[in-house]
Amino acid sequence: MIFATGNRHKLRELRELLPGVDLQPLPEGVELPPENGDSFAAIALTKARAAHAATGEAAVADDSGIEAAGLGGRPGIHSARYGGDRATDEESLAKLLREVATAGEERRAAYVCALALVEENGAEHVFEARCKGRLIEAPRGAGGFGYDPAFVPDATGPEDGRTMSELTPAEKNEISHRAAAARLLAGHMGAGEAAPTTR
Ligand code: IMP
Repeated sequence: MIFATGNRHKLRELRELLPGVDLQPLPEGVELPPENGDSFAAIALTKARAAHAATGEAAVADDSGIEAAGLGGRPGIHSARYGGDRATDEESLAKLLREVATAGEERRAAYVCALALVEENGAEHVFEARCKGRLIEAPRGAGGFGYDPAFVPDATGPEDGRTMSELTPAEKNEISHRAAAARLLAGHMGAGEAAPTTR
């Protein structure tokens, strides 16, 4: 199965989350179309369809981001370039925290990940999962990436208070939106041999 991503880190992570699945990177020379769609699911599906069309193999693709409740769900699908086309992760995070502070008291947020699967026969499935938490005012921690230094997940419990950047990679992988979506995909693939589902 092809994993339609140019990101080697994501490929390694998904391989760990899907033991027993022979996950291969996009073959050399296969280009993904520019991101297109108005939801995580739609964007992930476009990428998986493109990889399936180019290779004839089953293909998975993901799309993810963060939704801030106080901002009506922004930055959402625009998370990667929220601070501008050339913005660093730190600049996008700083922009998000400025806007959340201006918007009021609401600091709830959720990471979202959609994993789309197009099977060899063309059947399509999307698995979407969330990791809920809150944004703190002053970023902390060196691990993870993106918005992690300011995101305190609910799943570690009310006493913990560490940001995603302060968790070990293994701890993050237990609770992350990507891991949860991958578990849904793994469940489908395990069950799929006996009872395929089609969207
Ligand atoms: P994409 O799924 O590679 O398009 O990434 C979307 C963007 O969402 C990333 O560039 C980050 O800004 C943000 N994002 C997605 N997942 C995470 C995460 O686990 N931690 C921090 N930021 C994330």
